[in-house]
Amino acid sequence: MGVVLDGKQYARTVRQGLKERIARIRHQPGRQDWQPGLATILIGEDPASRAYVSTKEKACREVGIAPFGHCLPATASADEVVTLIGRLNARPDVHGILLQLPLPDHLEPASLIEAIRPDKDVDGLHPVNQGRLVLGQDGIRPCTPLGVMHLIDQSGMAIEGKRAVVVGRSNLVGKPVALLLLQRNATVTTCHSQTTNLADHIRQADLVVTAIGQQNAIRGDWIREGAGVIDVGISRGSDGSLKGDVEFAIAKDRAAYISPVPGGVGPLTVAMLLANTVQTAERQTNVRM
Ligand code: NDP
Repeated sequence: MGVVLDGKQYARTVRQGLKERIARIRHQPGRQDWQPGLATILIGEDPASRAYVSTKEKACREVGIAPFGHCLPATASADEVVTLIGRLNARPDVHGILLQLPLPDHLEPASLIEAIRPDKDVDGLHPVNQGRLVLGQDGIRPCTPLGVMHLIDQSGMAIEGKRAVVVGRSNLVGKPVALLLLQRNATVTTCHSQTTNLADHIRQADLVVTAIGQQNAIRGDWIREGAGVIDVGISRGSDGSLKGDVEFAIAKDRAAYISPVPGGVGPLTVAMLLANTVQTAERQTNVRM
């Protein structure tokens, strides 16, 4: 049986590291009040989005990041959101801005994300940051893909030269994961809903990262013996419980390592948001460590 990667434990370690890092910066001369600030923008009343934002704000407080929560009604216009983002862009105590997705139907995410200052875009979704990722330049990387890379690194298995299959091609998860793996010298295949013979691709893979959102879309017996499996997908089972994309019970006996759902990528996504916020705060305030 493969190693089941404990995302909760790894996330705890990342958070503890950030807490200590903030404490060390505060010990520098003249920085005793130094504090990273993360502004969250929640539009509407979607309970899942509300829960995600409150988890992120709680995690901020635990490591010493100041959360600044902003809630707008579901009827908010694009102009109102852009005005709020403009105010947050200008605030020196706000180092990161997170626009909680999905947005109400009448709001178009791309133009609102573009209103965020690229150096405060802690979700790494601004075209400047996505472009830097494509170019292999330094920039803010999206949190879930960073969490995926962290999990793979914690497994201790090499990435270089491996055949990696990424299932999903969204700007949020699939594409950035594929680019990060490519940067680390994996040979990457990206699959999506129009891929024929998905099973054949998976069977060849040393590493599978899946971000679809359909329970059991990746059959356990497709996984090569000894492969690594990172499951980003989230869907609800018939009993309301959270499910990943991979047929876990079978896949775990074939994989060298596998991330569970829940308790895999999810906790690391939040930890990486905190890490991005600390990093943007350091850059904006010229902290040298
Ligand atoms: P999207 O819906 O934007 O993308 C889903 C991708 O899956 C698309 O590229 C789609 O292909 C592909 N796809 C759909 N059906 C199939 C199929 N049968 N075979 C192969 N590929 C398929 O979702 P996101 O990328 O935003 O999120 C993906 C999943 O990850 C979701 O379940 C989401 O909830 C979860 N998630 C989890 C996070 C975490 O922290 N754990 C964070 C973010 C997301 P096509 O492009 O052709 O439509």
